Amino acid sequence: MTRALFLDRDGTLIVDVGYPRDPATVALLPGAAAALAALPSEVALVIVTNQSGLARGMVTPAEAAAVQAQVERQFAAAGVRFAGVYVCPHGPDDGCRCRKPAPGMLLDAARDLGLDLDRSLMIGDKAADVAAGRAAGCAALRFAEDPGPGVDVVGWPAASATLAAFFAA
Ligand SMILES: [Mg+2]
Ligand SMILES: [Zn+2]
Repeated sequence: MTRALFLDRDGTLIVDVGYPRDPATVALLPGAAAALAALPSEVALVIVTNQSGLARGMVTPAEAAAVQAQVERQFAAAGVRFAGVYVCPHGPDDGCRCRKPAPGMLLDAARDLGLDLDRSLMIGDKAADVAAGRAAGCAALRFAEDPGPGVDVVGWPAASATLAAFFAA
């Protein structure tokens, strides 16, 4: 069974611009690509991202796809490839099973990719990310670029060491 690192996208992998719809705004957070590139290649990297801008009509599907493609292009340039990308397009009142803190995207990825959730980790910048990871049976870490309440890892250089230790165990 494959171990996974589930990654929130906006505010974790890239600068959170709020309802991203323009690929030109995509900026990787410092050290994120290097941290992912340093992980053992057998760890499946899986993006799980809430994009309620779609449900709100603020972002078109084509815009969302263009932003995601740009994210993948920038990581690919650093040698990082994602095993899966899961997007919740719903809003908070839609009652879907995929919008974090619900674990639907992680469960779908586990089914699709044969993931060992018990030995996988979710990292994200919101409490909903941590809750989704725990609800799926994973370990979970709250990431931020600056220290704050409830933050487990500050910045990608520190997160890199934490993730390396997790996946070495
Ligand atoms: Mg986020
Ligand atoms: Zn959803």
